Amino acid sequence: MTVLPGATREEILQVVRTLGQPDYRAQQIAEWVYRKGARLYDEMTNLPLSLRQALPELLPLRRLEVVRAQRSVDGTVKYLFALADGERVEAVFLPYDDRTSVCISSQVGCAAGCRFCATAQMGFTRNLTAGEMVDEVLSIQQMSGQRISHVVYMGMGEPLWNLQEVIKSVLLLNREVGISQRHITVSTVGVVPAIYELAQHRLQITLAISLHAPSDDLRARIMPVGRKWKVQELIDAARHYTEVTGRKVTFEYLLLRGVNDEPHHAHALARLVKGLVCNVNLIPFNQVETPDGFTRPEPSRVARFRRVLEEAGITVTQRVEKGHDISAACGQLKLETARARA
Ligand code: SAH
Repeated sequence: MTVLPGATREEILQVVRTLGQPDYRAQQIAEWVYRKGARLYDEMTNLPLSLRQALPELLPLRRLEVVRAQRSVDGTVKYLFALADGERVEAVFLPYDDRTSVCISSQVGCAAGCRFCATAQMGFTRNLTAGEMVDEVLSIQQMSGQRISHVVYMGMGEPLWNLQEVIKSVLLLNREVGISQRHITVSTVGVVPAIYELAQHRLQITLAISLHAPSDDLRARIMPVGRKWKVQELIDAARHYTEVTGRKVTFEYLLLRGVNDEPHHAHALARLVKGLVCNVNLIPFNQVETPDGFTRPEPSRVARFRRVLEEAGITVTQRVEKGHDISAACGQLKLETARARA
């Protein structure tokens, strides 16, 4: 069944026509939900009462509930949302000087099992619908009182294992909420066939690939997906993506002290990505409890790694880290709340 948020303009139009209403009602309903963030049909005061009463049955309007919000001293706010079936996901509001960004979840839990990630420890429960993903942005836009300019799919879950709904959510964010595709980043653990599939849609979004290691052995040790797809296959998929879409890709590289942060790793990484239209985003490990006891490299090690890449002519960026005091890293809030309940 189509629901709001989540329904496309065409789907809303079908419902409007079924109810014998003029087409412009679809525009009004879409604006109420996707622009003004209405939570109830009763708020839609420019619709006739009879229509407001008929809509819930054909096109239910279901919004996420906020279970918990944690505000950082730097303005970052982390939200824990309850979905209609009681499952929970988190999303983060990130205000910067020149933009306002939201980091959203694409699944409840995750099946990738990356050794350094808090979400991995929860296992996988289910995919989010396009409407649930869009609602993470709508809800945060409303609560922050600020227009959201950027969205990153870097919360819980693997977006490319939920590809159809993720694409639908990107299009809704773009067409209905008004966020530029170029301001949307989808981050993947590196699901090679899905990268080819995504490329065919020729979206103007940024694809970020969590590479995190320059060799198959090391990558497989920290990321189980590395056993399935070789590093070179991933690089080939990235090259294909840039060629088909004309977009630069971002390689994310998580730095784990003494594991993948030595200069020889940086040299190998530089050789791998040389010649690709890309940049490398360095992410020092955000300390979470993991079975392997990974630790975060000190700034001098990060700087050393960065220097090797830059000297090899690679464009390097470093994630502006926010929300440390509220443990805004992937999966942390939900894990803490679940542990506190247990
Ligand atoms: N599943 C997708 C998106 C979610 S994770 C992906 O794997 O890309 C978003 C980014 O945060 C990924 O690069 C992921 O590897 C990284 N990440 C996970 N745990 C982290 C941690 N403890 N510290 C820093 N980055 C982490």
